[in-house]
Amino acid sequence: MGSKADQLTFWGTGDAMGVPRVYCECEVCQEARLHGLNRRYRSSVMVESADGSFLIDCGPDWREGMERHGERFVEHIVVTHAHFDHIGGLPEWADSCRWLNRRGQLYAPQEVIDLIMGQYPWLPAQLDMHAIDQGFELAGWHIVGWKVFHGKNGYAYAYRLTKEGYAWAYCSDAIALSEEQKAPLHGLDLLILGTSFYEEKAEFSTRSVYDVKEALALLQELQPKRAIFTHMSHDIDLRRDYRLPVHVGLADIGTAVLLK
Ligand SMILES: [Zn+2]
Ligand SMILES: [Zn+2]
Repeated sequence: MGSKADQLTFWGTGDAMGVPRVYCECEVCQEARLHGLNRRYRSSVMVESADGSFLIDCGPDWREGMERHGERFVEHIVVTHAHFDHIGGLPEWADSCRWLNRRGQLYAPQEVIDLIMGQYPWLPAQLDMHAIDQGFELAGWHIVGWKVFHGKNGYAYAYRLTKEGYAWAYCSDAIALSEEQKAPLHGLDLLILGTSFYEEKAEFSTRSVYDVKEALALLQELQPKRAIFTHMSHDIDLRRDYRLPVHVGLADIGTAVLLK
């Protein structure tokens, strides 16, 4: 690592089903199968710097991400919430730690740890669980998590990360945030926000993540210097020009994002 710049890389930019969806033959899913521009793994980011590195979330595509990025071990993983698309890779991570005879370090709020333990009670044999309700330090970042509304799916957590005056936030699974939940999203250099659809027509009570149109309105209010949308379903087609403002983009897994 040495002088590695602070940066993040999207390991996954998809919604819970990923793209292509197994049952679907829409244009976007077919493009994803044939060419792959729209292929999306379940949402996750790798954060790297000279001070260390960590992943945010560990969904069922974790193993695939390790292979694509040529990684053999990851020591630190921060978890946003205990939905399968964000934790489904934890048993494989723990298994790899066992084979390497090393321990993994998992960071999440206590209530998320409790839910993870309910699903995978054997994980502490390989993983140390850190309850981070009071905030924590990782790879030189000061990190604070807070609860955000996740619609019909209940609640998730978002994280605000600061280092040397730079502030960014990761909020992949949220909708209709209250003023209090929005507060830590003000004054950001970069906001990474989940937007599953461009315009989701389903009834509000059935929804769980912002759509692009709502997200653009939210950005007007929050005024981050830059924003990247992730957690995208097969509704979003990267071949299409959505005429987003210049400081707003759709996440892609090819390019690193500098954090400075
Ligand atoms: Zn999700
Ligand atoms: Zn979720």
